[in-house]
Amino acid sequence: MAQEIPYKIYLEEKEMPRAWYNLRADMKQKPAPLLNPATGEPMDAAGLGKVFCDALVAQELDNTTRLIDIPQEILDFYKMYRPSPLVRAYCLEKKLQTPAKIYYKFEGNNTSGSHKLNSAIAQAYYAKAQGLRGVTTETGAGQWGTALSMACAYLGLDCKVFMVKCSYEQKPYRREVMRTYGASVTPSPSDTTEVGRKILAEHPGTTGSLGCAISEAVECAVTNEGYRYVLGSVLNQVMLHQSIIGLEAKAAMDRYGVKPDIVIGCAGGGSNLGGLIAPFMGEKLRGEADYRIVAVEPASCPSFTRGKFAYDYCDTGRVCPLAKMYTLGSNFIPSPSHAGGLRYHGMSPVLSQLYHDGYMEAVSVHQTDVFAAAEEFARVEGILPAPESSHAIRVAMDEAIRCRETGEEKTILFGLTGTGYFDMVAYQKFHEGQMSDYIPSDEEIAASLEKLPKVR
Ligand SMILES: *Cc1c(COP(=O)(O)O)cnc(C)c1O
Repeated sequence: MAQEIPYKIYLEEKEMPRAWYNLRADMKQKPAPLLNPATGEPMDAAGLGKVFCDALVAQELDNTTRLIDIPQEILDFYKMYRPSPLVRAYCLEKKLQTPAKIYYKFEGNNTSGSHKLNSAIAQAYYAKAQGLRGVTTETGAGQWGTALSMACAYLGLDCKVFMVKCSYEQKPYRREVMRTYGASVTPSPSDTTEVGRKILAEHPGTTGSLGCAISEAVECAVTNEGYRYVLGSVLNQVMLHQSIIGLEAKAAMDRYGVKPDIVIGCAGGGSNLGGLIAPFMGEKLRGEADYRIVAVEPASCPSFTRGKFAYDYCDTGRVCPLAKMYTLGSNFIPSPSHAGGLRYHGMSPVLSQLYHDGYMEAVSVHQTDVFAAAEEFARVEGILPAPESSHAIRVAMDEAIRCRETGEEKTILFGLTGTGYFDMVAYQKFHEGQMSDYIPSDEEIAASLEKLPKVR
């Protein structure tokens, strides 16, 4: 007998995951190693250890350990806001009149408002365990900086955030949340670092980019005793920590014998998607089950769908290791008219390899369609979604509408990564009809890809 599925499913404490799942252990074709930009050789633990904490370096390089125990202090922190609910979107199904069954895993139920806290607490924990004084990082839209400041405040670590200048100016309240949690926030590019001064000299008046802020945060970490750099997406270690999303979602679905046909997530650097799909992709890689897995990206920053699978710099200042990933080139800066987040030029090497090997699909969507989906979702499901998350909503709704047309009763799972309270300027633009759908030309992308570093 099929059980009635409740509106919200919360795992009980005894059902909660106690280990992260390392998807790389099940990948036949492992993601390509990070390379030292000076020598072109793979980065080893000693090299990475100058920038990152030792335990995180070990996780970054570990392609074989399938399950990695979550330390007790992190489990305790997770209890403040986890489990996150798996919601059966009955209201949305009714509104769309679809026979599809729609589920979403909602990660916005914490003050930082997104899934980023799952990795922030892990990275802060290992920094603290190593006896460091603090960490440095960059933040674009502000969710990662907020998550990291919360984690650092909890553990008593110093937190220095370089915030992309246009966000710093457009999102003063994000900045104040970070300062409430004790972080220092510097608009980037700034004159506090050598790379910042250089970028300012070359591009006076620039409002910054994520790649620029990364360069500054890395420089700040390596020039300050007792500091390391931490990053909120892209890296293998972040995918590992975010597997908590998928492990919880799968356990909740397994409890009711539900199996998704399609798993959908938005993709900026790939961390929420990598986390959500982890256990499902694991089954797919081991040949135990099959799922359609779909990455959704903005048409204005289409790394998967129009980028190249190649080694590239992770940052504009070219101080970070090279990663092999789908990239638009480290010089690529999305149009200022793009308000929907997910503006990173590259993509997680793990997801890039899986996409390259045909284990997942990718689609790009226009931002006005994304905001239309966000609004429709908010009106029926109640949650005000982040623009980033709304990319996944768009495609989940499109799939459900297709089911209405074909009569198929597909089960759809998507990641609702966060809330949009700090994105009301973008919503305002949408409401006032001032939002445009800028799509980069082939020439623009080709010009950026021409500057890819020449490796092997
Ligand atoms: C950062 C962020 C994303 C995109 O980052 P990924 O690493 O691709 O997950 C998506 N949604 C929200 C709410 C975010 O804060």
